[in-house]
Amino acid sequence: MRAVVFDRPHHFRVLDVDDPRPGPEEVRLRSVATGVCGTDRHLLAGGFMARFPLIPGHEIVAEVEWLGERVEGLTIGELVAVDNTVLCGHCAPCRRDQPLYCENFSSLGVTGPGGFADLLVARAEKCFPLDGLDPMTAVLTEPLACALHGADVLALRPGSDVLLFGAGPTGLLLAQLLVHGGAARVTVAAPGPHKLEAARLLGADETVRIDRTDPRRAVRRLRSLAPSGFDAVIEATGVPAVLAICPELTRSGGTVLVYGMAGADDTVPFSPYEIFSRELTIKGSFAQTHCFDRALLALRTGRIRTEGVITDRFPLERFGDALSAVAGSTSIKAVVMG
Ligand SMILES: [Zn+2]
Ligand SMILES: [Zn+2]
Repeated sequence: MRAVVFDRPHHFRVLDVDDPRPGPEEVRLRSVATGVCGTDRHLLAGGFMARFPLIPGHEIVAEVEWLGERVEGLTIGELVAVDNTVLCGHCAPCRRDQPLYCENFSSLGVTGPGGFADLLVARAEKCFPLDGLDPMTAVLTEPLACALHGADVLALRPGSDVLLFGAGPTGLLLAQLLVHGGAARVTVAAPGPHKLEAARLLGADETVRIDRTDPRRAVRRLRSLAPSGFDAVIEATGVPAVLAICPELTRSGGTVLVYGMAGADDTVPFSPYEIFSRELTIKGSFAQTHCFDRALLALRTGRIRTEGVITDRFPLERFGDALSAVAGSTSIKAVVMG
C-alpha cells in the first residue's frame, strides 16, 4: 500500500510499504478522509511524541475492509470515524480512571501508524459507525472530540463573557461549543480575516484581528470590549506570546485555559502576584478520551456546524501541499482523500 512516512525530522516520503494485518480484536480499514492538523507539523519537526519512522494521520474516517476473528458489531464496507487514542488500561492513571494521563498513552498517527496511508489497523471498539453522516463532516469528529474535552475542562459558568484566541479548525469548533455551553458572549481573536469571517458565520459575537508576531498590540482593543476582563480566556493558538497576554485580559477570579500546543521547551513570563492577588485559575486541556460519541452526535444533529471549516482536499501523493496549506493564512482545514 501507499503511505506517507515521516522518516526523520523535517523529512517525509510517500512510499510503498507492506499492508498491515489486523489482530483478532482489530479491523483493517481503507482510508476515506484524514484531516491534516497542526500536530502533524509538530510531529514532522520531531516535536510532541514523535517516534520515527511514523505514518501520520490521526483524524481518520475510513471503510472497514477486514474484520479480525473476534470482532463483532462492525460490518465490511461500513464507514467509521476512528478514535485514535490507545490506552494501556493497567498503569496507575488508567487504574484510577484517569486514562488521558495514561503513562503508556499512544495514538494512531502520533506514536503508531495512522491514516495517511491506503490502509490502517485499529481496535474494533475504537471505530464509530457514521450511520450515513457525510465523511467530510465526520472527519472533524476527532478535533471536535478534543474541543469537547476542552469544554469539559473549562466547565464554563452560564452567562460568561469568553475570549478565544485562535480561529483554526479547533477554534471554530470550540467557539460553537462555548456558544452552546452557555457563554453570553464569545469574542474570537485571530490573525486571519478569512478565519475571523468563518468564526462570525459560526456564531462568534465579536471578532478581533491580532498580529501573530505582536499580539500585545490587540490588548487595548480587547480591553475596550471587557474593561473588567473576560470570565474565561482560551489560548488555542499554541503561540507563547499569545498566552502571555491572557492573564491580564482575565477578570479577577476568572480562568485561563491553555488549549493550544506550544513547543515542549517554550516558556511564558507572567506575574505570579497577578495570579495570586486576582485569584486567577490556569487550566490545561490535552487531547481527549471517550468523547467520540458526543462529538458524532453534535455533528449529526448539526448542533456543531462545519460549513467553511474544510477548505482544501488533496490526494495522498500531494501530502506536502496539504501540510503547506494548513500553514498558510487562507486555508483552515485540509483533508487528504483516500
Ligand atoms: Zn489533530
Ligand atoms: Zn495506562
